[in-house]
Order: sequence, then structure tokens, then C-alpha cells
Amino acid sequence: MLRRIENVHILCMDEEYHEYHDSSLTFDDGIIVAINDDSLKVDEVIDGKKGILLPGMINAHSHLGMMPFRSLGDDCKDRLRRFLFPLEKRAMTKELVYTSSLYSIAEMLLGGVTNVFDMYYFEEVVAEAVKEMGIRATLAETILNDVTPDSDKPYGGIEYAKAFIQKWKDKDPLIAVALGPHATNTLSKEKLLEIRDLAKELGVKISMHVSEMDYEMTYFKDTYNMSPIEFLESINMLSDDLLCVHVIHTSDHDLELLQKYDVPVAFCPGSNTKAGKGVARVYEMLQKGIKVALGTDGPSSGNRLDVITLLGIVPRTQKTYYHDRSILSAKETLSLATLKGAKALKQDHQIGSLEVGKLADMVLIETDSVNMFPIHDYYSAIVYSALPSNVSRVWVNGKELVKDGKLVYHDLSKLKEGLLMAMHDFNKIAKELSEDIA
Ligand SMILES: [Zn+2]
Repeated sequence: MLRRIENVHILCMDEEYHEYHDSSLTFDDGIIVAINDDSLKVDEVIDGKKGILLPGMINAHSHLGMMPFRSLGDDCKDRLRRFLFPLEKRAMTKELVYTSSLYSIAEMLLGGVTNVFDMYYFEEVVAEAVKEMGIRATLAETILNDVTPDSDKPYGGIEYAKAFIQKWKDKDPLIAVALGPHATNTLSKEKLLEIRDLAKELGVKISMHVSEMDYEMTYFKDTYNMSPIEFLESINMLSDDLLCVHVIHTSDHDLELLQKYDVPVAFCPGSNTKAGKGVARVYEMLQKGIKVALGTDGPSSGNRLDVITLLGIVPRTQKTYYHDRSILSAKETLSLATLKGAKALKQDHQIGSLEVGKLADMVLIETDSVNMFPIHDYYSAIVYSALPSNVSRVWVNGKELVKDGKLVYHDLSKLKEGLLMAMHDFNKIAKELSEDIA
């Protein structure tokens, strides 16, 4: 079915940053077939009401199953060990991951995210939630040197991931699969090597938390006299298929290594700054041609899962860190969530920009609300003025999933109710842990 969106300002987010005022875009099922060609006879005309049409935004790092944790112990010093690990061990179930993933995806879609890279447990039901909601996703089962919610032995994630990848690889146009070793310091060297070889054998990417924690840096310094990134080089793990998440603490040599091996980075400034961990040197990474995408992190660490909120934080961290307001323009910031982000995930041949032949993953931002006037610069309006609530319509693969700011196929209150019911035991234990601390 041929459809044309008219009366929109288009930010193509292609290499040349083409931008068209009062324009139209035509798409046929899942593919963009024309920009500003009104001669094509279409089945449906959609009035964009002077909104801004841009490519769907990419969230390169999240944990969809962690919605139950949102707002729990946010200011607690050792939150990971006080709340997260005990609750995951005692209360994280398959049902909770499923209902949480549905709700998390709803928030992403409503905020203009059309593509997410997830790392968590029970990825089998995350895949079901992705299918149910219609978002595009890369799914990686987390692998850890400990028992996990879906395995009663350390490294059980390896077997889980193998079966999961075999089941889902190249099976669904919206779902890609990957391996998710948890972090540089939570797996043995031998297991990291095994995962490196497994990724090659299965032909999948790896995503891992890297150079995030102070104690991680100390551990590698004391054990190997190296940084985590130098360590990864020493075991031949650095490559363009290793998505390094966070990468907060880096030496000049680390940046040289990322550049040399073309290693992509997922920058998560919302969660990094909330935890007081520091600011990644993204401006310098970009200067070196290192590919950078943006991640909200999970709802427990980043709280919000829309990328629009994140866009406002990204340049602020860099301008403040380097004490220079002229760096990381709004235009380049938006590219991190679109074309540059797609490049980091090696998906730019299909998505990341509005170009003829690419897939119709698109977001329409309305400009009627109080915060969206005046607009001298459309990139600036999206990065600094827009709110997730300005997202009016969202298409993934040409299918409209959000219309007039509401989910087309799902009732948000029902998704919330389902999650709330699944959170019964979780909430009881969370209360006990909170009382222990108080
Ligand atoms: Zn994470």
C-alpha cells in the first residue's frame, strides 16, 4: 500500500543532512519510495500538520526487563549490591521480564524509539514482547560468572544464548540476535575467549559493559597493569562487532585502540551522570571517527527509555566536560540517535536516515505544543526543546504503531496492569530491602 505523508518538515539525517521544508515523503509498505514526488498515485494521504519528520531513533543499550526497578533506591550508594543483585536473584521471573519488556517497549515507541539493543535474561520472552509490540530490536542474552534469574549455574547464559541465537537468527525481519557478556570484570578471560569465538562461529555481534566502574579500572590495573580496553586488545577481542557500552574511563591510548579496531561505543550519559560515574570523552571519539550510538540504559539506571530526553543530556555533558559550547552541535547529536547510531550497529544500509530505498522507520514530532515554538533551527528544536510527549506518530517498517501520541495496537493501562500484577513478589521483597536500609 502506497502512502504519502504531506505537510511536514523533513530532517533526512543522511550524510549531507538534507532538510526539506513543507514537504512530503511516500512509502510503500516498509520502504521509502520518494521524497517530494507528489506525482505518484497513493492509496492514503497523511496530513503531517506541519510536524517534523525524522528517522526513528535508535536506543543502543537497554535492559527491557528491568522496569520493576525504576525509582527504587536511586540515591542509595551501593545500589547494585544492595537492591539490584538481591532482587534479581530472588524475584526476577520469566513473567516479570515479559510484562516489563512490553511496558518498556511501549514507553520507547511513545517516545519515538524504533530500534533497541537489549541485554538481559530470559531473552526468549523479550523476543516475544518485541514481536507483540512491533519494534525493531537486537537481543542479547546476558552472560555472567554467577547464577542468574534464568540459570542456576555460572555462565548458564552461554548455553541459553546458543539456543536462542539458533532459534532467532535471520528468522524475523525485526529481530537480530547477539551475545551479551555482562562486563570485562564479571567473566573470566577463558570465558571471554569462548564468547569471542562463539560470536564468530554464529556470525553475531557482542555487546558488553566496558570501562564503566571505578573498581573495574582498579582490577585491570592491579591484575594486568592494563586498562580494560588494552586487556580486550590483548585477547584479540576488539573489533567492529564489539559494541562497548559506557566507556567512561579512557586513556588516550584506549581511544587510539578504539579507533584502530573500529570499535563502536554506546554512550549512556543519562545513567552515567545519575550514578556520578563520569562523562565519556565522546567529542574526542567522534573527532577520531569512532562510531558512537546512544543508549538510555535500563529503566533502573536511566529511568526514562525515550531517546528525546537523552538527546538533551548528550551535548550538555560534552560542552560541560570540555568547557566549550561550540562542540557537539544539535545536528550531530541527533545523528548519534539516527545515522551515526545505525553505523555503530552496522545497520545503516537499511535504517538511520530517510532516503529512498531505506526502511520506513519514522517519527513525526508535532510542533503545536507550547515548548515547540518558535523554531529557528529544527535540529535544536528536537534536541533541546522537544519532549517525548511531542511524538505524534511512529512507523516501524512502514507499520504505524503510534498515532496521535497513543499506541495503535495496545492499551497502555492494560500493559501497566499486567506488569503490576507480575510485580507482586518483587514489591514485597523490595519493601523488605528498603526497610533494612532505613
Ligand atoms: Zn547496561
